[in-house]
Amino acid sequence: MQILLHVCCAPDATTAVERLHEEGYEPILFFFNPNIQPEEEYEKRLEATVKLANLWNLNLIVEKQDKILWEQQIKGLEDLPEGSFRCVKCIEYRLRSTAEYAKKNGFHIFSTTLTTSPKKNSKLILQIGETIAEELKIEYLHKDFKKKNGFLRSIELSKKLGLYRQNYCGCIYSLRKTSNGG
Ligand code: SF4
Repeated sequence: MQILLHVCCAPDATTAVERLHEEGYEPILFFFNPNIQPEEEYEKRLEATVKLANLWNLNLIVEKQDKILWEQQIKGLEDLPEGSFRCVKCIEYRLRSTAEYAKKNGFHIFSTTLTTSPKKNSKLILQIGETIAEELKIEYLHKDFKKKNGFLRSIELSKKLGLYRQNYCGCIYSLRKTSNGG
């Protein structure tokens, strides 16, 4: 069965794709991340995702980024730390857009690679995914890809495939925190 898989970055997608294949799904990659700043970083992460799709012969959909709409989602929350309500709004926006695309284009089920990262709260992602799925009458497949050493596997696979790995979540606020040593 085809599944629309929101991809936050190529390294996180490696484990997710591997595990979905093991379970008999055919993941169609969906790159929609208007949170990634600056533009050069967005291009690097997209390029890595294109590379993964080519290496593993996967279908990839790159959805048009609306950075202004993303900024509106997190307006007033810019100074909050990573993992706060700012991230809830950011993740909610990306997953809602994925689910809407899935609904419009005949997919019955969607998921996300976001749970590969040990920094992401999987329970929260589950709540967000299920709420959106219920509203749009579509199915959300919740997988905590970091389980069973999923994050380590993503490092191993991305090194083997030569995929670019970032060192911050995505937005300029998370980059500043990393640059400040936070
Ligand atoms: S830290 Fe990551 S999840 Fe949180 S708002 Fe920034 S890009 Fe989005």
